[in-house]
Amino acid sequence: MRLKTILTASAVAVTVNAMGAEKTDFNYVADRFADIEVLRYQVPDFENLPLNQKLLVYHLTEAALAGRDILWDQNGKYNLAIRGLMENVYCNYSGDKNSAEFKALELYLKQIWFANGIHHHYSMDKFTPRFSREFLEAQVNQLPAGKRPADAAFTKTLIDVICDPGVMAKRVNQAEGEDLVVTSACNMYDGVTQPEVEAYFAAIKDTTDLTPISYGLNTRMTKDADGKVIEQVYKVGGLYSSAIERIIGELKEARKYAENDAQGDIIDKLIEFYTTGSLKTFDDYSIAWVKDNESRVDFINGFIESYGDPLGMTGSWESIVNFKDVKASERTEAISSEAQWFEDRSPVDPRFRKPVVKGVSAKVITAAILAGDSYPATPIGINLPNANWIRAMHGSKSVTLENITRAYDEASHGNGFNEEFVIDQPTRELMDKYLFITDNLHTDLHECLGHGSGQLLPGVDPDAMKAHGSTLEETRADLFALYYLADPKLIEIGVLDNPEAYKAEYYKYMLNGLMTQLMRIEPGKDVEEAHMRNRKLIAEWVYEHGRADNVVEMVKIDGKTFIKINDYQALRGLFGQLLGEIQRIKSEGDYEAGRDLVEKYAVKVDPELHKEVLERYAKLDIAPYKGFVNPVYQPVMDSVGNIVDVTISYTEDYIPQMLRYSEQYSTLK
Ligand code: ZN
Repeated sequence: MRLKTILTASAVAVTVNAMGAEKTDFNYVADRFADIEVLRYQVPDFENLPLNQKLLVYHLTEAALAGRDILWDQNGKYNLAIRGLMENVYCNYSGDKNSAEFKALELYLKQIWFANGIHHHYSMDKFTPRFSREFLEAQVNQLPAGKRPADAAFTKTLIDVICDPGVMAKRVNQAEGEDLVVTSACNMYDGVTQPEVEAYFAAIKDTTDLTPISYGLNTRMTKDADGKVIEQVYKVGGLYSSAIERIIGELKEARKYAENDAQGDIIDKLIEFYTTGSLKTFDDYSIAWVKDNESRVDFINGFIESYGDPLGMTGSWESIVNFKDVKASERTEAISSEAQWFEDRSPVDPRFRKPVVKGVSAKVITAAILAGDSYPATPIGINLPNANWIRAMHGSKSVTLENITRAYDEASHGNGFNEEFVIDQPTRELMDKYLFITDNLHTDLHECLGHGSGQLLPGVDPDAMKAHGSTLEETRADLFALYYLADPKLIEIGVLDNPEAYKAEYYKYMLNGLMTQLMRIEPGKDVEEAHMRNRKLIAEWVYEHGRADNVVEMVKIDGKTFIKINDYQALRGLFGQLLGEIQRIKSEGDYEAGRDLVEKYAVKVDPELHKEVLERYAKLDIAPYKGFVNPVYQPVMDSVGNIVDVTISYTEDYIPQMLRYSEQYSTLK
């Protein structure tokens, strides 16, 4: 299941100045290249944590950075070798650094650093280098012996992988009807086919087990010498052992500063999981983790989300270390304490509601480090664990990363997006005033309530939606959030102060889903990513179903297309209606209906509108994708070597950070 919310580019772009009074001189923008803007984020209140918590955070951030190479290797089996080779070429280059070829090489490196590999982090397409093959070959040949692969054939393979567009073209292929394992370049499978993988798991899965392990979560599938399909386990003594050992070393240091026994136990269980590779232990760890709502400092570190696996089983390695934003968490606590109220009134068939909503815990957090699959591109909300039965029996933990959304918001001031795409001044003013808070509330509702709502009818397979599972699950969570964002209940519980505020988010959502998210798609291509499909599905469906009543219009002004919302309350009704249908599809396991909705509304792009959006967007020069550099933590020693403080600084730039990480955290050489 995909349970991350990824901020829409237009949410980034449209959000302006809701917190303008707090605008600071902090330099939010660290770098800009290709379709990427790299930002900085602040970690407010880190300085005010007690020393033990600072040390806990510090060692957890080291454990986070130690896993970087694991993700690189999961994303493609040549990624680490290519990164090493390209960094060596870059750092040993003695020619004209203003030449077009060198600039192109630098750009390519920036792109692969950002994507943790040679494929775009979002589109999954392989990067096309703008330098020539001859240039690269010449540079590699000039490298000192220790700085290039000793094996000439291997060097040629790496250069083929970089330069030949036909080799390893797509990291994760989702095209229905193809062998998704064979056609995906990710390194979670090697030398096996999709039918072989499916047969393997069909043979070992116990379908009567009500508490199944997350099969395949921490393994690479390959064949042994006899041609038998096997799983290679990520663990001490197994795959990625050297990286995992270093992670464990830092976890053991962090363990000394655990805030309480429960947190110490969580760290112990994680160490045990990394040591044994046992997925049963991982479930024990996840249960202990989800129950800990007392600790101020929290973290994830492991194989978590399965976006990177075409079959959605293997977790990409990631880590986020964070601590609770106590003040802002009052908002999510107000929402989650009313979880049952929302569930009981959800506009779905009562048979599909949860009679008792369990353990919805939600908080606003301050991220202290982003790593692995959450770096540099990062989610703004997370809901874990992913195992369905743990969520049902023990609940889940939802978090909103508000120092990250704040950075997005601050960095987008005055970029001209609103003026270009929002229909009129009153709508722009409403968005100026309420989009920051309603966007955050949308994330809270999506994560705290949306994913946790509803139930399957007895006997329905949770994976019945197959390849469309992620899209439909995100659709369900978004609709739940949209529907309740306009509910007077939010005013009653004190999280909104204006009954019109929701319109800011409704307008942005429709604008994004119908139009502006298309700027992320290349001309002639379909929408593929699950969150983008979900937004398109919702926006196109309500547009079509509200057409007879003119609920939402697309109007032309001076030859440009604009979204005009004529009836916001009717729009809310349509969101509720679609939620009812999506919940029915999931609850009954109606695969055909789910597939038809996705295919009809979520995939195909109107080429003319697409062209218009791209042209209007290009004039603004806004990066469609954003990510972050991390702050730098530094222990301060006294004269006898005791750590007396940990300082934080925000001055490191993008290239120095990437080169430093490669030097200090290359754990899989
Ligand atoms: Zn989600």
